[in-house]
Amino acid sequence: MAVALLVAAGSGERLGAGGPKAFAELAGRPMLAWSLDALRGAGIEEIVVAVPPDMVGAAVPLDAGGRVVAGGATRSESVRAALAAAPPGDVVVHDAARPLVTPEHFRAALAALAGADCAIAAAPVTDTVKEAGPDRLVSATLDRSRLWAIQTPQAFRRAALERALAVDAAVLARATDDAWLVERTGGTVRVVESTPANLKVTTPFDLRLAEHLLADRLSPPPAPGRA
Ligand code: C5P
Repeated sequence: MAVALLVAAGSGERLGAGGPKAFAELAGRPMLAWSLDALRGAGIEEIVVAVPPDMVGAAVPLDAGGRVVAGGATRSESVRAALAAAPPGDVVVHDAARPLVTPEHFRAALAALAGADCAIAAAPVTDTVKEAGPDRLVSATLDRSRLWAIQTPQAFRRAALERALAVDAAVLARATDDAWLVERTGGTVRVVESTPANLKVTTPFDLRLAEHLLADRLSPPPAPGRA
């Protein structure tokens, strides 16, 4: 059985909730509780949660298989700290900032590890994506049919993640996801189709959107024509 690393050590400055984002209230519970439910729904009980160092003693709703560690200065340093405390097995990494994740996301990412070092949840890009320089002049329009917006969960063969994270802090600081660290060490990374509903909560707008989506999930609106 895989082990899960839930990274929840960000400061959440852009959310402005007055404390770490993962502990901000979302639909009546700390944000990280929603991801823990989805992990348990997928049958994953060995869970290491990385929290801000001053929150290590805070209440985290974990079962017997779970533990809490102090996160690092950057996201990937938090992943490395959690990995060091994790029991053996393949690993699934998830951001507590994606509370809409479902058990199926975890199952699908782990299943896609067959034949790859890493498998990552991703939504097909629906916007047109262009590159522009600091002068705001467009230099390229990318081929949207080949673009994916990358999310978590991200599943890893244990050895591939350990190798990827064995780099100095400056490289870790450049990583916006762990799959990139696997790519740069020559590992294979596969995308697993997800949906934009597995959104990342960054701003107060995202938090409101997540509240609405969770409310719909808990009491779905009536089907059209049956109201
Ligand atoms: O800041 P951002 O939303 O991109 O962070 C993504 C995830 O990484 C969040 O769940 C956040 O708590 C976590 N993180 C962390 N340690 C850090 C920075 C971010 O665990 N130093």
